Amino acid sequence: MWVSDYSVSDKEAHIYCESVKDSGTCPVCQNESHSIQMYQERTVRDMALLGRKVFLHLRSRQFYCQDCGRYFNESFEFLDKNGTMTIRYEQYLYFLSENLCISDVSVKEDIAWASVQRIYCKYAERQISGRAVWHQVRYLLMKYPSKRVVKITLVYWLIWKQV
Ligand SMILES: [Zn+2]
Repeated sequence: MWVSDYSVSDKEAHIYCESVKDSGTCPVCQNESHSIQMYQERTVRDMALLGRKVFLHLRSRQFYCQDCGRYFNESFEFLDKNGTMTIRYEQYLYFLSENLCISDVSVKEDIAWASVQRIYCKYAERQISGRAVWHQVRYLLMKYPSKRVVKITLVYWLIWKQV
């Protein structure tokens, strides 16, 4: 990413940035495309900086894949597909919600209560299902102490973690 512009006030910081990569990977056929169709601005919240709310204004590109004839939007590794906040900020909100009630986090961070609750549920569910999968792995280890079963289970577990 490179920063093209920024503005800072007493309460907010706005950072305008875009990717340094000149291509995008087609999500369907995995080919690299250099064919940029248009630009869109995507605004997302990020971690506060020196007590100021931070907004990233991403100049996001739409590519055309010449191999499979599809249009696709640029993806960013620090954002979920339709995310309105960076992943690290979501994780920070989840961390706060574990210790404070959702209304307190909502007021403190100036984010709608429903958004904080959605993030809390999303990460809590992941943690719970992560534990459930780990219990299954342990159960299989005890029941079938063969290395092959354990290996296959771990591969599935790793694939699941990616999702
Ligand atoms: Zn393609």
